[in-house]
Amino acid sequence: MKNNLLTPRALALCAFLSLSLMACEWKKPSAQASVVALSGNAASGTETTAEESAAAKAVTVPVGSANEAGNAELPAPAVGSAASIMARPQIPILCYHQIRDYRPTDSRSAKDYIIPPADFKAQMKGLADSGYTTILPAQLYEYLVTGKQLPPKPVMLTFDDGCDEQFEFAHSVLNPLKFKGAYFIMTVSVNRPNYMKAEQIRQLADEGHAIGLHTWDHHNVKQYQGTDWQKQIEQPKLSLEKITGRPIQFFAYPFGLWNPQAIPQLKDRGLMAAFQLSTARDANDPLYTIRRIIVPGGWSGAQLVNRMKNSFH
Ligand SMILES: [Zn+2]
Repeated sequence: MKNNLLTPRALALCAFLSLSLMACEWKKPSAQASVVALSGNAASGTETTAEESAAAKAVTVPVGSANEAGNAELPAPAVGSAASIMARPQIPILCYHQIRDYRPTDSRSAKDYIIPPADFKAQMKGLADSGYTTILPAQLYEYLVTGKQLPPKPVMLTFDDGCDEQFEFAHSVLNPLKFKGAYFIMTVSVNRPNYMKAEQIRQLADEGHAIGLHTWDHHNVKQYQGTDWQKQIEQPKLSLEKITGRPIQFFAYPFGLWNPQAIPQLKDRGLMAAFQLSTARDANDPLYTIRRIIVPGGWSGAQLVNRMKNSFH
């Protein structure tokens, strides 16, 4: 089942490349152009410079401070631990984008990244009724690195891009079930129409949800050169640390796309693990190629649980 997902998923990613530029329906032309061209030109860059330069001046969050799960500093993985990490059973990790009803203009491929609210609620209820407990990236990390025990029937819920409705659904659906989510934010969109505001991101963190990094403007990490690492990783990481008051330790690759060259760059910048989509993990760096599946609308709670069992071993 897992392998059967690879080819259509890879194709869907190509479709998503164009779709995601409109994720959450942000249509500001100049900023979109910067996403497409990723030219790093000064005009597009200045739009977030004020916030990011303020972040850069902010006091660095202490390394040993509590992370989003309330834990102390996360342990570094032991040298040669990749094989033991690969050997542990994979924990199901679900990836969501937009949570809204379909529109006539939504293409078939776009619908992979949109889930109607009723379907999302049914899926969360299905997980709860089946006894699943949500975990956060720090818990997954400690499980993978040290074997620390997880709650029974663990699952991780991840939300990419920072669409504003994700905030509402945390409150109307997740919080009543005592579920927690991990929100991977692209910082160019913070405070823009259709995306979460900084204070909403802060509130999610304060409520015990996890905030992670999803780059500055959703550019594919496989294409980064030179100062792109500073622009796409370092500065937005600082920005999110300023917003949340917490260290930002986890990363989700835009489009799920990664290559081995990106991994040391993430390590050098203090990111402890990274999440892709459903392609095979890198046996040398499984912490930086953690698998997730995109959950489309139309799956019932029972179908979702079945897919989880088939996709994570
Ligand atoms: Zn994304």
